[in-house]
Amino acid sequence: MSSPKSRSAQLLVCAGFAALFALAANLLSGMATDTRNRQQLNELGEQMLRRSELGVDYAFIALGKIAESSAIGAAAPCSETFRSSLRQRVFRHSTIKDIRLLDRNGAILCSAFPETVTGISMRVDLSQAIAARNSGVKLMKLAIPDGEAMAVVWSASGEHKLMAIVNTSALLFDVLPTGLRDEGAATINLNGVSSSVARYAPAGWDPAASDLETFAAHSSRFPLNAIIRVKEPALAAWNHSSNRTLLMLAALLGLAFGGLAARTLFREHHPVAAIDKALSGHEFVPYFQPIFSLRDGKMTGCEVLARWIRADGTIVQPHQFIPLAEQTGRIVPLTWQLVDEALLQMRPYLRRNKNFCLAFNIGASHLLQPGFTEDLRRHVSGAKVGSRNVVIELTEREELPDLGKARELISGLQERGYKVALDEAGTGHSGLSYVQKLGADVIKIDKLFVDSVMTERSARVLVELLVNLARELGMTTVAEGIETREQADLLRELGVDRGQGFLVSPPVNGAQFQAMLDLNTLPAERGTKQEAAKAADVRAV
Ligand code: CA
Repeated sequence: MSSPKSRSAQLLVCAGFAALFALAANLLSGMATDTRNRQQLNELGEQMLRRSELGVDYAFIALGKIAESSAIGAAAPCSETFRSSLRQRVFRHSTIKDIRLLDRNGAILCSAFPETVTGISMRVDLSQAIAARNSGVKLMKLAIPDGEAMAVVWSASGEHKLMAIVNTSALLFDVLPTGLRDEGAATINLNGVSSSVARYAPAGWDPAASDLETFAAHSSRFPLNAIIRVKEPALAAWNHSSNRTLLMLAALLGLAFGGLAARTLFREHHPVAAIDKALSGHEFVPYFQPIFSLRDGKMTGCEVLARWIRADGTIVQPHQFIPLAEQTGRIVPLTWQLVDEALLQMRPYLRRNKNFCLAFNIGASHLLQPGFTEDLRRHVSGAKVGSRNVVIELTEREELPDLGKARELISGLQERGYKVALDEAGTGHSGLSYVQKLGADVIKIDKLFVDSVMTERSARVLVELLVNLARELGMTTVAEGIETREQADLLRELGVDRGQGFLVSPPVNGAQFQAMLDLNTLPAERGTKQEAAKAADVRAV
């Protein structure tokens, strides 16, 4: 039993979870992409460094071979044979642009291809060279007119040095991934030297911009660093195309989870817990059904019936909660709540009409509970209402385990001014002797007999028996469930004193009942149109 309100709340929970899961998936996938991107750029830096180290290694090997194979004679250091060996080495290694022989002061003595790299001064400032871990090898930056170059210098002998010019620009060719090529720069630097020996940067690149992320790799063998710088926004956007399949899956998972959560959150409480909650929320309210005289049609009192008005306004009928309340003992607090509320609502009328009776249904086990009479006194006097305004309708649904004790209790109630009615008489466990022994004030003839009193002889006989018994014992009779004028007429003829039923009014709420009392009359009869036409007569009888 779930209301439209709670259904829409459940849908809201499902949608919320779907959105939450999609959001979380997006966030997590974004974080994963970020981590992957950084890892990729760090690896790229390492690759650049390895390439540079390899370039230096090749140059070092080439220089070593030259030193091994050709005696660099002090007298004729730049013989044709020697220069030829230089050319062979350059030719073999694509990463080497040129090899030159220097004297101890850095003056260039000869080159493999003097025309290859032009514009370099004829003297190399060897003080700028930075030693590698193997101190025989030094690296230095060469300023050349069209960019940067790196030289690997090797001390060949005391007198001479060999210098290889390494093709560093080739090291950085296409190094950055396509998505970052316009938003990042890559450089190879020598330790302690601010300007690079190799550099890739897009047009208009500002190396001093504040929003750059740096990824660096440092060589342990050579004084070399590889550095990649990428603009932060470009890095944040890189590879971040949203994964629709992932988002859909996450949303579906969220829906499933939301469904489970909604079911848990909105699960109908255990019925007993629901009754307890309704008790504490005062959701049980009294409804009133008139009891009228079959002789003059005047209202003599009413029966108080429980209705459960849930917080959302739905009305729960008694058969949906009374049996459980009886089984679990909740009927006791429920009854007192009903007594208090009904007496409170009716107090002004009852104080003016001392003979008007409010009848409350009390189960046998409740009546027999220790302290019932005292509890009743407390509730009735608490409401500042007289005991003669109160009728206890003792239902026959539950068999009285101790008839003697019940008799004692009933007479105790009567001594205090209450009236006691035997509810649903004739349907219960002990038949007429039960009615006889209990000494109640009122017999309520069950609807079962009223329904069939027109057609079933046995029903008519039973009603007659009950009426006769009541007369003998000085009791009043009330017929329940009167729906037609004919039933009312016959019951009156059979000697029944009072009636109750849809012919006059169904149970109504306090405000409607007050309106009936204020008009000091009963509403038009219900039932068929023909019956309605005779409404005035009923009130007249
Ligand atoms: Ca009743």
